Amino acid sequence: MSRAINSQRTSSIGWRCADCGALITSIEAGRVEWLTGEDGRGKTNVKGLRLVHNSCRYDDRREFRKDHCLVEGLPLERFVGPDGLMLLLSLIAQREMPRADLLELVKRIHIPGYEQTRELFSDAIHGGAVAPLIGEGFYLQSEIQELLTWAAHSAAPASQSRG
Ligand SMILES: [Zn+2]
Repeated sequence: MSRAINSQRTSSIGWRCADCGALITSIEAGRVEWLTGEDGRGKTNVKGLRLVHNSCRYDDRREFRKDHCLVEGLPLERFVGPDGLMLLLSLIAQREMPRADLLELVKRIHIPGYEQTRELFSDAIHGGAVAPLIGEGFYLQSEIQELLTWAAHSAAPASQSRG
């Protein structure tokens, strides 16, 4: 039953925590959270969608005091595997949460190698090392592999010249 979760675990070194910046190294240690408030016309407004350690969650009282936002969220475990992907797709379809943030979360959780390479791609693309076929932000597995190899062999990021 847990095969999907296990393969997810081995194919990923973890996720960068949006709060402390350290790696979330197990699914159990992670949480997806967001802030829910109301706009001026009483319409629900969701912002601040992020993936963090359980211990790095938003402070409920502080967020409420700041702009009357409620902290909501679910364990990372709910977002992995086919059921997790379906949940993310349903959130995209509901159009309440920021779509770009949800798409990024889908890629980070479900595309092997994306989390490890997503910050490197910009340098690699603008340095001419990779030209993504689909487009910036959407990478083929072969391109992700290529980038991992490229990153392993280049000591410095492409944007820094070693003179
Ligand atoms: Zn953290």
